Amino acid sequence: MIAGRVAAVRERIARAAARAGRAPGEVTLVAVSKNHPAQAVREAHAAGVRDFGENRVQEAEGKVRALAGLSGVTWHLVGHLQANKARKAVGLFQRVHSVDSLDLGRRLDRVAGEAGLALRALVQVELGGEETKSGASPGELPALLQGLAGLSHLEIEGLMALPPYHEDPEKVRPFFARLRALRDEARAGGLLTGGELSMGMSHDLEVAVEEGATLVRVGTAIFGERVIR
Ligand SMILES: *Cc1c(COP(=O)(O)O)cnc(C)c1O
Repeated sequence: MIAGRVAAVRERIARAAARAGRAPGEVTLVAVSKNHPAQAVREAHAAGVRDFGENRVQEAEGKVRALAGLSGVTWHLVGHLQANKARKAVGLFQRVHSVDSLDLGRRLDRVAGEAGLALRALVQVELGGEETKSGASPGELPALLQGLAGLSHLEIEGLMALPPYHEDPEKVRPFFARLRALRDEARAGGLLTGGELSMGMSHDLEVAVEEGATLVRVGTAIFGERVIR
């Protein structure tokens, strides 16, 4: 069942990429396994998925350890990270999508440095209308990127956003376009070298891919409704 859903999601990505004149390989599918058991991750892995996302450090802990034997897996932290969990996060995740302050970036940099690794990270941008209010505002972004660029153990790969949910995915398109514009401005201004755009979820991934997403974070469309509370 999960294999069939993975195939369907890949097909959706491929069609949207084709409409936008992009190669499907430009888009990495991150399967968001939060609230789903380790066994579901194993099934997705058997279907060829190698990138998995979790939104809470605490929940990820047991799962990442239980799945340590799976080959070639990259774990992505896609949810908000509290500074006091930075050390744990660096031990579990290879990519963090939710850097939203220089404070958090500095802490991740220090912990990654102590562990002798370079952590791949994206800056989460708050584009307005969100319930969670995580993320840097577009106005704060240039200064934040400048500060983060000086951290040697943190590799800033691009930007991430979690726009408000709309029944009609077309309503989310302006948010995705805005994130892409912010990335392009930051790159033109020499504030960003990476070009990743983490945007798009189960119900709006086509629009996100059309607008340039390079990482789509898909939960429900692969794993079904969330079961663990
Ligand atoms: C849960 C979650 C997703 C996946 O959402 P679906 O609608 O289930 O695809 C994507 N990004 C973040 C940050 C999430 O917390």
